[in-house]
Amino acid sequence: MADNSVWVVLEFDEDLNILESTLELVSELFSVMQKAKGKLVALSIENTKKEEISKILGEYGIDEIIYLVKECGGSAYQIACCISEIAKQEHPTAIFAADTVWGHEMAAWVAVKLGVPLFSACVEIDFDATGRVLVFRPLYNGLVDQKIIAEGKVLVATCMPEQFNVKKARWPKVPVTKEFFKSSPLEQEKVRIVRKIKADPKTIDIEDADILVVGGGGMGSFDNFKLIHSVADLLGGSVAGTRVARDKGWIGLDRQIGQTGKKVSPKLLISCGVSGAMQHTIGLKDTKKLVAINIDKNAPIFKLADLAIVGDAPTILKDLISKVEAIKTSQKAQ
Ligand SMILES: Cc1cc2nc3c(=O)[nH]c(=O)nc-3n(C[C@H](O)[C@H](O)[C@H](O)COP(=O)(O)OP(=O)(O)OC[C@H]3O[C@@H](n4cnc5c(N)ncnc54)[C@H](O)[C@@H]3O)c2cc1C
Repeated sequence: MADNSVWVVLEFDEDLNILESTLELVSELFSVMQKAKGKLVALSIENTKKEEISKILGEYGIDEIIYLVKECGGSAYQIACCISEIAKQEHPTAIFAADTVWGHEMAAWVAVKLGVPLFSACVEIDFDATGRVLVFRPLYNGLVDQKIIAEGKVLVATCMPEQFNVKKARWPKVPVTKEFFKSSPLEQEKVRIVRKIKADPKTIDIEDADILVVGGGGMGSFDNFKLIHSVADLLGGSVAGTRVARDKGWIGLDRQIGQTGKKVSPKLLISCGVSGAMQHTIGLKDTKKLVAINIDKNAPIFKLADLAIVGDAPTILKDLISKVEAIKTSQKAQ
């Protein structure tokens, strides 16, 4: 390795703003790199707003920015070809990207081109006393933590979004900027996107759902459980349930949350007639906002809830459906 230089590949949204998940990663790298002497380098595929990008990244402690100019192409594969080309010249210690769809694909190609493994879905980064980079990631549904040490070869890793806080450096830096011009011809695409199809909440994997409406034994009957589907449809959400709901045949195993089901991380979860047994709640720890409806004010699910509603779940869901429908109708009329 030439020096201890750690790279982070920036990802941008459609308005060319740096993604939150990238800034989380940059913040964490800057924080852990305080322990190890080294250079934090950003690779930017966006080069129309260099001044703005440099200023933002300086605030997050980036030492150097390498801008990939237009000839580098735009797809994950083409960008990966360029990054691996630069890496072969400059020998970074590690290359990081956020674990988004694009970041994952790009990092996988970088790893292929450099002949090293990709360590995806990491949740922790550190440096040991000798300055080696360490990454950690959960395996086997969180039962085992894997620790990976960068030694000898470049470490290519992606980190899960929402694991680290976005935090500016105490003293901003003025990053050194470089440009990379591709000398070889642009690589032929390996993958061609024919068209993009929006995921259907009805069939999406519940682990990927942003909104979940969850029914438990307290829904009482298959007919009442249909209200869970109606609310999910109205909110653009997906249906899930407890083991009792599965045992009763209201959901399949693929929609069960918990120890023997799936772990979910929605932005909103509406839990209806669910007791809150530990074997169930273990699967919803990463929920951002939890609304719980239960007839029993002492139900354990309320300990986790951001909003606790004590009452009969089918009645409350019927009310909710008519209120949301009324709002939607008045919005259409405007
Ligand atoms: C090894 C093992 C693994 C397990 N794995 C899982 C798992 O992966 N996922 C899982 O979910 N469970 C799992 N379980 C089962 C778990 O222990 C609970 O039995 C289960 O989660 C309870 O489901 P429930 O809350 O829907 O039903 P119940 O325990 O029947 O609770 C129903 C709740 O609804 C409320 N209620 C009743 N009527 C109404 C009403 N009209 N309106 C509103 N609320 C009402 C009640 O007050 C109660 O709190 C596992 C158990 C074991 C032993």
